[in-house]
Amino acid sequence: MSSALDIAHAHAVAFRASLRDRPPKPELGAAALQMRFDGPTPERGEDGAAVLKALVEAAAPGLMAVPGPRFFGWVMGASHEVGVAADWLTSAWGQNAGLYAAAPAAAMAEKIAAQWLLDILDLPEECSVGFVTGATMANFVCLAAARSAVLRRAGWDVESDGLNGAPRVRIFMGAEAHTTVFAALRYLGFGDAGAHLVPTDAQGRMDADALESALAQGAGPAIVIAQAGQINTGAFDPIGRIADTCKKNGAWLHIDGAFGLWARAVPEMAPLVDGVDAADSWATDGHKWLQLPFDSGFAIVRDADAHRRAMTIAASYLPQAPGEYEPSHYAPELSRRARGFAAWAMIRALGRDGIATLVREHCRLARSLAKRLAAEPGVAVLNEVVLNQVIVGFGDTDATTRAVISQMQLDNICFAAGGQWRGRWVLRLPIIAAPLAEDDITRLADAIIAAWRAVRAGQRTSLQPMRVQS
Ligand SMILES: *Cc1c(COP(=O)(O)O)cnc(C)c1O
Repeated sequence: MSSALDIAHAHAVAFRASLRDRPPKPELGAAALQMRFDGPTPERGEDGAAVLKALVEAAAPGLMAVPGPRFFGWVMGASHEVGVAADWLTSAWGQNAGLYAAAPAAAMAEKIAAQWLLDILDLPEECSVGFVTGATMANFVCLAAARSAVLRRAGWDVESDGLNGAPRVRIFMGAEAHTTVFAALRYLGFGDAGAHLVPTDAQGRMDADALESALAQGAGPAIVIAQAGQINTGAFDPIGRIADTCKKNGAWLHIDGAFGLWARAVPEMAPLVDGVDAADSWATDGHKWLQLPFDSGFAIVRDADAHRRAMTIAASYLPQAPGEYEPSHYAPELSRRARGFAAWAMIRALGRDGIATLVREHCRLARSLAKRLAAEPGVAVLNEVVLNQVIVGFGDTDATTRAVISQMQLDNICFAAGGQWRGRWVLRLPIIAAPLAEDDITRLADAIIAAWRAVRAGQRTSLQPMRVQS
């Protein structure tokens, strides 16, 4: 009889081997899936191997093929097998990365992975790095450090005295900032309406002149949130100019670079990310372009004291390693997963070169995809493809675009999803998963064009406006 670990291993290997051939989206609906998991509350314990078998049976028909070459949903990396294997060990080793004393190897893996990360992203080596769950938490941590620093300069200790009665912090960001930045502002007590939204251009890039005049209209503590890689268009704010403006006005500059920050690894992409190293903090993801398994993100802060003031958790029974890296001084949690093992392994597996090749190749494939789609009558590529993101509209109406998205998901050859961009429905196509090659882009383009032609043909024969369920 195999152990639970053996069963997990065998299934994991078989699942990964099936990804190229399986339809990317499960056929089961929520009700059927719920039935597979449902049952009376377990009263007595069961054999672990049997439970693992039951888990695989229940879950397998409901799995999305996210790590495979047919999945293009939202913006997700592909959980590279080296990261997954390191992550298995992370669980098996059972290290609690809350403090150095409890997990010395985990802390050391984070310390070194952080140095490599700063080197590859070409960011100042004095930065501190918090290992968090993703860019949402990375934005939160960085902005907590920002809040601490700008209020301290105004003579206010926010860690001790909170926000009640504090000087007002002015916050500026582009109108097309990622939704999780609004969430971070909410968690920090600023409210998601607490920021001044600076106008953006058609690609979602912040207007640097408008920022400059908005900043000049007031005084006091200020935080500016810029973006490297807009979630729809992949566009970059003019960060060099924004950084100059921030410096002139004494504002803290934070950059949300969940995936776009990785352009820093590619020498010829330098113009896109020029001036990025002049910022004060950066949020990025490990589970997007670095292909780490979920969950993984990095909160990078130049002023390590501000980072520690905002995040340190201390008590008499939590010994501090003198002079050593203390993981819980840089992330919101005390007990947490030792994410550094997988990050360390993944950076080694790809190397600076491999990361640059991956980013460069994905951007090339995105341009190739855009070209194929733009050649099809009735299909419009709606962004400048400066990175890995392609957004597409079909025909003349939102209803048509949504019908194509539904048709494509029904065909289930490749998976991609829609969203609204500047008041219009679009099909969103991120090229960011590790196994992708030209063939996969051909299959994707063919699947999209086939769905579009089917919708168009249907409309012609019925001469009825397509009805779409939302
Ligand atoms: C994905 C993304 C986020 C949120 O990251 P999570 O990993 O989902 O927490 C934030 N900002 C941008 C620009 C993103 O692309």
